[in-house]
Amino acid sequence: MLGLYVHIPFCAAICNYCNFNRGLFEAALKDRYVAALLQEIRLQGDGSPADTVFFGGGTPSLLEPREIAAIVAACRGAFALAPDAEVTLEANPETVSLERLQGFRDAGVNRLSYGVQSFRDEELRRLSRLHSASRAGDAFRMAREAGFDNISLDLMMWLPQQTIAEWLESVDALIALGPDHASMYLLEIYPNAPLRDAMARGKWSLAPDDDAADMYLSGLDRMDNAGYLQYEISNVARPGRASRHNLKYWRDEEWLGFGCGAHSTRGGVRWKNLASTEEYISAVTGGGRVSTERRELSAGERVEEALFTGLRLAEGIDLHGVKQRYGVDVRAQFGGELQPFVDQGLLIYDDGRLRLTRPGMLLAHEVMTIFISSTVR
Ligand code: SF4
Repeated sequence: MLGLYVHIPFCAAICNYCNFNRGLFEAALKDRYVAALLQEIRLQGDGSPADTVFFGGGTPSLLEPREIAAIVAACRGAFALAPDAEVTLEANPETVSLERLQGFRDAGVNRLSYGVQSFRDEELRRLSRLHSASRAGDAFRMAREAGFDNISLDLMMWLPQQTIAEWLESVDALIALGPDHASMYLLEIYPNAPLRDAMARGKWSLAPDDDAADMYLSGLDRMDNAGYLQYEISNVARPGRASRHNLKYWRDEEWLGFGCGAHSTRGGVRWKNLASTEEYISAVTGGGRVSTERRELSAGERVEEALFTGLRLAEGIDLHGVKQRYGVDVRAQFGGELQPFVDQGLLIYDDGRLRLTRPGMLLAHEVMTIFISSTVR
């Protein structure tokens, strides 16, 4: 089954750390963009079965419920969308009201993912976010009232000036709300991020690297104790509430992306849509080429990708599955280089699978590098 990703590149303000493909909301541009999206989905549709739709951004919750409804309907018309398809909308807390949330539900959205980032106002201000902690709590409760029984909350750790205790305050506040899913990411500050200047001006510093590891491990510990299951390096969920859409990226499955900058992978071919919103709209409406960088993945790249994305999952890599699909015996080919990680208790061979232990997840990149360098050479 395919996953369908729909990119909405508009935000009410640009956060000082953000490196996503997004721009400021402009009503007229948004109208033309939604029209182009509908056209692209209809053009690409071939009736194939699909079981997830994911509205990501940007801030998809800036769209009107009727626009989300039209896009979901276009997906249904163009693909054989399963009746129980997971339809996720990324939302920012300041953009929702009970009425809008009910509208999104009526539009077919059955999963919400709120970008909360922190439950401490001071930290939210440092990140130039538009919402407060209490607004995030209200947005969560409103979503429950609107009938959403599958809500995810995102938090970021290792924020400027953040201590481990302050990080855990946010984790506890999240647990107190009781979402069905949570994502916990480490803040990464890209080279020219305005946040760097703000940090210099405010004399804000980042906690030492060791604290980042402690934040990660202690945050996950709290989530374990609250009954959540870690299923991916940065993601935990109540049983049965893992993100079906995101699992497609990590389980070596196929997806189509619509909208500017969206990526697709299908039948061993990968492509990316034009990143600029205007260029994307012109290409769709003028009958031009929307996709760029279209290329067939080599056999080596496909294995490599299956291995390093599989390693992100708590369940790890299905060694037999990889052998059957790609003819690669992971243990025979990589066993020597993996052994030091096994000896240190960072990697485990477990019931036909290879998986990282939780401390190993902190060093995931080092392990993944083994697969990349080994298949390329
Ligand atoms: S709301 Fe999200 S996508 Fe938009 S600027 Fe902020 S971090 Fe980036």
